[in-house]
Amino acid sequence: MHLLIPAAGSGKRMGSSQNKLLLELLNKPLLSWTLKAAAAAQTIEWIGIIGQPYDFDAFTHLLNSLALAKPVALIVGGETRQVSVFNGLQALPPGAKSVLIHDGARCLATADLFDRCTEALNTCQGLIAAIPVKDTIKVVDDHGWIEATPDRRQLWAAQTPQGFEVALLKTCHQWGKEQDWEVTDDAALLEKCGHPVKIVPGEETNLKITTPVDLAIAEFILRQRFDSSLN
Ligand code: C5P
Repeated sequence: MHLLIPAAGSGKRMGSSQNKLLLELLNKPLLSWTLKAAAAAQTIEWIGIIGQPYDFDAFTHLLNSLALAKPVALIVGGETRQVSVFNGLQALPPGAKSVLIHDGARCLATADLFDRCTEALNTCQGLIAAIPVKDTIKVVDDHGWIEATPDRRQLWAAQTPQGFEVALLKTCHQWGKEQDWEVTDDAALLEKCGHPVKIVPGEETNLKITTPVDLAIAEFILRQRFDSSLN
């Protein structure tokens, strides 16, 4: 399985002037944790990191310190996540039939989750990791008034990895570009093109690190994992 890691964002919502994936989490850049999980996944054979060229020196430095046993490529990202993934798809090795896409910012995903997604991709053309929402979700208008309360039993929070047949995802990305669609995940492109997307049970700890609070929670979870592995 080929894995693309979008890592070309900024640290704006984190309140940082640098890419949040280069912020330290237990003495390692956040992206190192994502890569360690991907490297430990048995089914991942190639990794493409999509980043901004000004971060490539830092990425190379962290790759040198990790010394992964799998081939890793650096790919130039774009202004949005959607453009970054589009670029990543063009840079896949020829012959890549299927791909997992996993946000670099979800640094707590486990190797097992990657392997379960790879396995499930044998049974469908598109899938995402997701978990049922715990909160009651409100649809709110531009003026702050509630418009609707969707039935919570039908609501799932989308995570990554998201997995696809490469040819299909490329077609949907190309169509989305031509139609000027703006989406925040890849599954949405398949949905808008009318293709089914399957749910794979995600992980409650698979947070997307976005704000300083997420970073503190991630540190707590990682420490718990270390403590339980020592006992
Ligand atoms: O900003 P957010 O956390 O939602 O971004 C999700 C993922 O997409 C992150 O891993 C981020 O690095 C990546 N991204 C990207 N290119 C962009 C913006 C975000 O690869 N232009």
